[in-house]
Amino acid sequence: MCDCGYFRTPGWTPTRLLDIGTSNSRTWRLCVPREGNVRIRDYVTLSYRWGNKPFIKLAADKLQAFRSGKPISVLPRTFRDAIAVARHFGIRYLWVDALCTIQDSEDDIARECSVMSTIYTNSACNLAATSSEDPFGGLFRKRNYQGASIGNIRPVWTNLASKYWPLGSIDSIVSADYFGNEIRNSLLRRRGWILQETALAPKVLHFGENQLYWECGCTEKCETFPHEVLGRLSFSGSRLLLPPFSKWTAQGAFRQWKNITEIYSRCGLSNPSDKLTALSGLAQHFQKGTGDVYLAGLWKSQLPRTLHWEIYHPEGSGKRAQPYRAPTWTWASLDGPIWTPSCPDSHESVLIEIVDSMVETGLNPTGAVSGGKLIIRAPARISVPIHDEISQPHFLLCNPRVLISVSWDEVDSVSCDVEHCLVVTTVDARCVDFLRRERHKLYGNSTWYIHGIVLISSGEAEQFLRVGAFSLFFDRTRGQSTQSPELALFGLQIVDEYGTVAVRDASVLRRFEVV
Ligand SMILES: [Zn+2]
Repeated sequence: MCDCGYFRTPGWTPTRLLDIGTSNSRTWRLCVPREGNVRIRDYVTLSYRWGNKPFIKLAADKLQAFRSGKPISVLPRTFRDAIAVARHFGIRYLWVDALCTIQDSEDDIARECSVMSTIYTNSACNLAATSSEDPFGGLFRKRNYQGASIGNIRPVWTNLASKYWPLGSIDSIVSADYFGNEIRNSLLRRRGWILQETALAPKVLHFGENQLYWECGCTEKCETFPHEVLGRLSFSGSRLLLPPFSKWTAQGAFRQWKNITEIYSRCGLSNPSDKLTALSGLAQHFQKGTGDVYLAGLWKSQLPRTLHWEIYHPEGSGKRAQPYRAPTWTWASLDGPIWTPSCPDSHESVLIEIVDSMVETGLNPTGAVSGGKLIIRAPARISVPIHDEISQPHFLLCNPRVLISVSWDEVDSVSCDVEHCLVVTTVDARCVDFLRRERHKLYGNSTWYIHGIVLISSGEAEQFLRVGAFSLFFDRTRGQSTQSPELALFGLQIVDEYGTVAVRDASVLRRFEVV
């Protein structure tokens, strides 16, 4: 194996590991390296789906029995196969979440989750049981080995191409999306817990249905391309490979976080209350890399811009978690596919002022939260929703009349009798975000957006809940050169030749506490 692993902490070991002995041992035992003062050089980790069938797990009353040792035969097939692979690499220790964390102790789970990023970044290699639905599926497959090899053809060119390819040459054929079909779109990749495991591990060995795939910082290989995957067929684009901290830029890190959260919002979790916990290892890692303050899925330094996230309605809808999981201003409070329309490359005017922000956490500072609030000052406008013919509710604002299409967090819960408050977060222009490129072509530099969030009263005095977001598109050339009805609606105006937007006077600003 290569020595990739720039996030490794020398000398660090997990709280518990499975000691799988040497190649002849028929038993394994749980060891606690810090107690026995055992020096551990390497261990491997395992990413697998838990599935629905019961299997052996560590519990408080089993600790002693696990430490005394148990036969390998009591383990489900994937764990037994992982032992075989670790031994093949000459590695004596294995970390498996279900066997190394006390599953009936919330405190132990929280403590272990708080070091999850270190567990995976220090792994010698992460084994991914990509093709198995549960731990009984195993890593290995009976397969036709020839299937993984490249097909060779001797093309006969009958047109101009023969000028460029010599007759009688041998070409190779391989499916262009072989990695996507087998790994990227696999069931394992759509599980919430797996995302951080495969993103943080310095090396991943995927056990696919048809072949093995290897990814690390320096190379990617598979049985079709045992030396190196050809550049154009590279699969690292679909991996969330993180650069060494020394190469982190604030911009790059937060763009990567945006990608991660968008992918993560599309992953399933058996237990929806794990939404923040299953991402906490990656959040810790980003915290180390950026030094920023983590607020239940968002970063403090990025707050005004990233408050404007939306449920991606063409793909699905949103459902706010019950029981309480996070404050409404973070995407972590919802289940459903999200995206963050704000474009870091655009000329942006931030209109919202963050007066205060906080979340209440437990033992794991990047894990589950029990509360949180955001105090903001921003231009705002009261409105009432109306239903149009397509039944999707909109806001109608009078004087001047501007219809604002809202992306609701939960479409089912929209009430037409309640007063809503539109709060402007940012105004951006000349954005080249992919969804806007088409409009951009049509309107060129006159394409502008007012981004904002929609709040309703929580029932408590002066306290609000987020219920949606909006992007108000307007054509700058339609109004005066420095004014438009949309800007006027919120008491905003363009103040310089670069198109910077500011409030006309402080009286349009309102203070909100959002929970
Ligand atoms: Zn490497």
